Amino acid sequence: MTYQTINPYTNQLVKTYPDSSDDDLERALSLGHGLYKKWRQEPAATRSQSLHTIASSMRKKKDELAQLMTLEMGKRIQEAEFEVDLCADIADYFADESENFLRPTPLVTKAGKAYVVKQAIGVLMMVEPWNFPYYQIMRVFAPNYMLGNPMILKHASNVPGCAQAFADLVREAGAPEGSITNLFLNYDQVDAAIADKRLAGVALTGSERGGSSVAQTAGKYLKKSTMELGGNDVFIVLDDADMDLVKQMAPGARLGNAGQVCCASKRFVVMDNLYDDFLSSMVEAFRKPEPGDPADPATTLAPLSSVGARDKLQEQVDAAVAAGAQVAVGNERIDSPGAFFRPTILTGIDSSNPAYDQEMFGPVAAVYKVGSEQEAIDLANDSSYGLGSVVMSQDPDRADRVARAIETGMGFINGGWTTAPELPFGGVKNSGYGRELYTYGFDAFTNEHLILSY
Ligand code: NAP
Repeated sequence: MTYQTINPYTNQLVKTYPDSSDDDLERALSLGHGLYKKWRQEPAATRSQSLHTIASSMRKKKDELAQLMTLEMGKRIQEAEFEVDLCADIADYFADESENFLRPTPLVTKAGKAYVVKQAIGVLMMVEPWNFPYYQIMRVFAPNYMLGNPMILKHASNVPGCAQAFADLVREAGAPEGSITNLFLNYDQVDAAIADKRLAGVALTGSERGGSSVAQTAGKYLKKSTMELGGNDVFIVLDDADMDLVKQMAPGARLGNAGQVCCASKRFVVMDNLYDDFLSSMVEAFRKPEPGDPADPATTLAPLSSVGARDKLQEQVDAAVAAGAQVAVGNERIDSPGAFFRPTILTGIDSSNPAYDQEMFGPVAAVYKVGSEQEAIDLANDSSYGLGSVVMSQDPDRADRVARAIETGMGFINGGWTTAPELPFGGVKNSGYGRELYTYGFDAFTNEHLILSY
């Protein structure tokens, strides 16, 4: 029994789920493949209404869906409710925009009359993480449902209830069976599915390790893949930044979702004239959150997703401190059975410190002092990751130039990271490849089919 609901607030086991069998996988592949063939005969517009229905059932069931997320991975209830609304918005967006995205593109060529039509490619495997249990699914589900790629879901082993709730909701909203089949698969079964000739592609969001392993299998069997992996994003405070705005934005950019966000700001790179002011305001802000039940709207500090995740983060902080980092605030144990981690700020991390080029998936910020804009850019780019960045400056041209100089897939100016259906999401370097959301998310598993008449 590897799929389990363990409440991270109490560390109590709530429910276990039976592993899926190879026969279950075979049935899902066969069902998905049959649906792919059927969907090829139907215009995408026929699925638009049911995707809108999925959006409205999510809004109707918001409380129930949000409580389940909070129970399984511990996020604060307001954040859980926000996530459900965001998922509904993504569904509505793709239901409305797919007609535009699918419009054939005429080509100018001397060869004849040519155009490209976008078509589905077949059944997809989705491998998803627990940090945004529904949003991670919806980013892949909504565009591919409209395109006509049926999906098999292998969600993280600590959010089986959310995985099943999503698949049930889709089915109850009137989507055909096989649109998304949730299975409790092990890694070998995921590999076996990718190897199967009925499976056309795999979308993974998760760690570098998981991504590298699944991408290897996808490469071996020549299957399309997208990899949305980790990040160690910078939040650069240039010497002309509006400090009131910086102080308002910076704590939330790190502490949202208890710090368990791939594109959260993890490295704060501050020019020396503003460093002391910045650090003291961050220390003050990081002292405020108090642990409590994440289902209680008054709680300000949620647990991490599991005791194991907390222990891993503690090991990383201990290693950073052993290598010379200083603790500006936090790093004190919270006396609770829950997976709490006190918001922590580390300074004095040099390039030999393991924390320098490592993602910390929790409420831990690294703060760096730099003497120039170029030094900030060089530090930002001296990373294995390249997901997102934030640049704070009152000069729009300068902020734009610095944002473009940073090797990432996303850049945010004068505000923290965000996500919306119409904003493409993804990174470069070890943060992965491919994009989700917007038309790029729609194109990820598309056959751009050329038709040329002489
Ligand atoms: P993880 O260990 O890689 O797990 C993610 C998913 O991959 C889970 O469903 C996991 O299953 C599965 N998995 C892992 N290794 C696998 C393998 N060899 N074969 C098949 N499936 C495999 O990631 P995590 O540590 O839980 O999640 C946090 C990471 O995700 C962070 O690095 C974070 O930055 C990243 N993330 C990235 C984005 C983005 O869009 N770029 C968004 C959110 C999170 P099990 O649960 O059964 O192990």
